[in-house]
Amino acid sequence: MKPAAFAYAKARSLDDAIALLGAHKGEAKLLAGGQSLIATLNMRLSSPSLLVDINGVGLDGISVSNGMVEIGAMTRHVALERSSDIAKHAPLVALAMPHIAHPAIRNRGTLGGSLAYADPAAELPACLVALDGEIDIAGPKGKRSVKAGDFFKGLFETALGPHDVLSAIRFAAADANTRVGFAELARRHGDYAMVGLAAVAKANGKALSDVRLCYFGVGATPVRARKAEAALAAGSVDDAVSALDLDPADDIQATGAVKKHLAGVLLRRVAKQLTETA
Ligand code: FAD
Repeated sequence: MKPAAFAYAKARSLDDAIALLGAHKGEAKLLAGGQSLIATLNMRLSSPSLLVDINGVGLDGISVSNGMVEIGAMTRHVALERSSDIAKHAPLVALAMPHIAHPAIRNRGTLGGSLAYADPAAELPACLVALDGEIDIAGPKGKRSVKAGDFFKGLFETALGPHDVLSAIRFAAADANTRVGFAELARRHGDYAMVGLAAVAKANGKALSDVRLCYFGVGATPVRARKAEAALAAGSVDDAVSALDLDPADDIQATGAVKKHLAGVLLRRVAKQLTETA
């Protein structure tokens, strides 16, 4: 199918993008990498009157300073995948990147597009929640920051308003005691996950503390498994699996019961990654 007709504007700056969105009162959409948006236009799931292209407004780049990693919204997946700063200071993101779609899609798709689109089976939203990151949003009333845990509101629904632009994200850089784990099950490599798990913890001798387990593909948003986090910090993987407080619904990929079983399988794999390096 072809998309419904739309106008196109190339924003000259972040402020220009916000002004263009405001001038079209909810009828305009931002165009980042286009890897999800163009498909929804082609399928006529969305028919904005204007696309505001934010390629070229300068929102890309990775920086590490004062113990924090900051990444611009227009940073492409491929740049994250190849960055030595990400490998060193954001090892969870480095582990997740090869699981996101295929190289052609990673060449164009952006971090900001992935977070704003908020597919419940996407890797980066769950990583950012596991990392307890923050999301910077620029809008008509100025700039604000939202905790990743508060950003994902529902199925494909976020804290972004219709005239907002997600500009950057920030999270603590890994230190010598940081441990990370990542695993997902997909029918084919590069497909969206049936179930996935992103995890961060601190090594405390042989034990783990500050465990954050964030699942994707098991609910409308990334889902923390808080009881399992506590059980893992107390030292028992079996207890963590028994305590798994998830209630995934059936979907096109699997029944909720199968997903819950797979979540337990992933938890054992990720717990091994976390403790082997502890
Ligand atoms: P776009 O498609 O340009 O935009 C997506 C949405 O976000 C639009 O509504 C747009 O208006 C909005 N938006 C974009 N940028 C901003 C911003 N800065 N501020 C506010 N709103 C913004 N993703 C995964 O995570 N895992 C996968 O396994 C995966 N598999 C895929 C397989 C296929 C075949 C395809 C086509 C895509 C897949 N994707 C997957 C999606 C891919 O990662 C996309 O790149 C990503 O979801 C959207 O990024 P984008 O830059 O292309 O955004």
